[in-house]
Amino acid sequence: MRIDCITLFPELIQAAASAGIVGRAHERALVQTQTWNPRDYAVGNYRRVDDRTAGGGAGMVMMLEPLRQCLQAVKVEAAEVTSHVVYFSPQGKPLTQARVRELAAMPHLVLICGRYEGVDERFIANAVDEEISLGDFVLSGGELPAAVLIDAVTRVQEGAMSDMDSARLDSFEDGLLDHPHFTKPNSDEWGDIPAVLLGGNHAQIAQWRRQQQLQRTFERRPDLLKSAPLSPADRQFLDRLRAQTDKNK
Ligand code: SAM
Repeated sequence: MRIDCITLFPELIQAAASAGIVGRAHERALVQTQTWNPRDYAVGNYRRVDDRTAGGGAGMVMMLEPLRQCLQAVKVEAAEVTSHVVYFSPQGKPLTQARVRELAAMPHLVLICGRYEGVDERFIANAVDEEISLGDFVLSGGELPAAVLIDAVTRVQEGAMSDMDSARLDSFEDGLLDHPHFTKPNSDEWGDIPAVLLGGNHAQIAQWRRQQQLQRTFERRPDLLKSAPLSPADRQFLDRLRAQTDKNK
């Protein structure tokens, strides 16, 4: 897939796209990420990309014209693919793993990173397909959200990891949180690895892991259980957990 990122701080995106699994996926061209600086499309001696917020008051806003010209240049270069334009904003829809999977299947993402008070609203209304938020907090720019999205969509590309099953077993992939993981030593002053994981009985291990997933989700993110696909055995286990919790109250 191709990702074009429009940003005043390309170095932040380039650093994020060059390390670990994401870096290797880029080296192997599973994903190609390119950065574009709206300042290169600004006019005048100072190449201004921001101006005062209309109506007065505190704050600068990213100007329409450099962004429009920059996006136009991206679309000319990527004319052969359908583009999906994302603007990062605390006012957008919170990002989920399900949406990451959908975005990862698209041929071309254009990521717009805001700065200051954000970008001129007319750019959002006319050029943006989707606004994405990382959560209910405010960052100084859209570069970290863009880096997060590039990481999330890259690691799920077929071939990005040596064992793609490990991505399919992560939290949220089947609607639940992941189960706990352990590795050697089997025994330590901070605790032992649960005996079931060392017994070699694959059916028992699978059942233990599933129950741990259900318990963790029940304790930490009960909202996920409303939409998670659950078997009759899962439901019975959750009923027992609920009864136990009620008893302990
Ligand atoms: N005035 C904006 C508001 O209150 O909605 C916040 C602007 S913020 C200081 C500057 C830029 O950081 C935004 O344009 C956006 O691109 C990015 N940003 C900040 N918080 C974000 C979040 N939670 N999710 C995604 N992007 C965010």
